[in-house]
Amino acid sequence: METKACYALGLDIGGSSIKWALVSHSARDKPRVIETGIRPIKESRMPEDVITELADITRTTRHAHGVLTSIGVGIPGMFEAATGIPTLLPNFPSAWIGYHFRSAVTRRLEQPIVLVNDAKAFSIAESVVGAAVDQSLVVCVVLGTGVGGGVVQNGALVTGKGSAGELGHLTVEMDGPPCGCGNNGCVESFAGAAAISSFAGQPSAHDAFQAAQRGDSQAQAAIDRAIRAIGAGLANVFVTLAPNAFVIGGGLAGAGSQLIEPLTAEIRRRVKVAPESHITVLAATLGRQAGAIGAALMSIEASAHRTGRD
Ligand SMILES: [Zn+2]
Repeated sequence: METKACYALGLDIGGSSIKWALVSHSARDKPRVIETGIRPIKESRMPEDVITELADITRTTRHAHGVLTSIGVGIPGMFEAATGIPTLLPNFPSAWIGYHFRSAVTRRLEQPIVLVNDAKAFSIAESVVGAAVDQSLVVCVVLGTGVGGGVVQNGALVTGKGSAGELGHLTVEMDGPPCGCGNNGCVESFAGAAAISSFAGQPSAHDAFQAAQRGDSQAQAAIDRAIRAIGAGLANVFVTLAPNAFVIGGGLAGAGSQLIEPLTAEIRRRVKVAPESHITVLAATLGRQAGAIGAALMSIEASAHRTGRD
């Protein structure tokens, strides 16, 4: 039996930095996070500049730990699975759209990479080594600029025909406000950062949470509205899948009791087909490194499939 430890590197590209995580794994042991780090990226956020940073982190890691068995790279948007070309990357320059990103990174790192969506990477990380470890069916939600998510069963992402888990685009109000996706009344049109800040009358969603904590009633109303929307969406998900746990994370989820408790109450209030005790909502535990850890885990899974070890 193979017992030698292998190393997988996860790289998570964000709006202002790259987070990275080194994960060790072997046939016998569960994956373990060895080291994590963060590196700022140039304000231009051009693909070539980002790739230079990815290459530098990879070189340093190889120097310290030797061969990397697999590398996963997470991006905050969508891409064509077949080509690894980004198709939607909010907050990044338009040069990314249509850019052969996956092949450019593969060339530069001299090793194939696995390209993943950051919310999906978050979902895998929190389900396999984070808040919902050992739970069989987990639904994860990432609250940030947008509302992302993922469904994980027995440590593997449920993808359906490819797009499963886009929880931000569950319809919660049939004729609700327009959403960036083209639909009306999506969860994201109430609970995305822009929706919260504008309804709260605050410069950012972060400011809205702080104002609510100071007792600002308009800010509190915006947060209540966001929680009602997420709660309605997740109640529908519970009725459909009855997952063992929901995990809530992302930049806006820092305020645990401000969010987790009222959200749990809202889902329980709406779900009448199961006892309240079946509904569990957990705060994410891996913090800002979740995406990088998940990218590493997803690269391990993908390379296991490639070599037929699965
Ligand atoms: Zn939408």
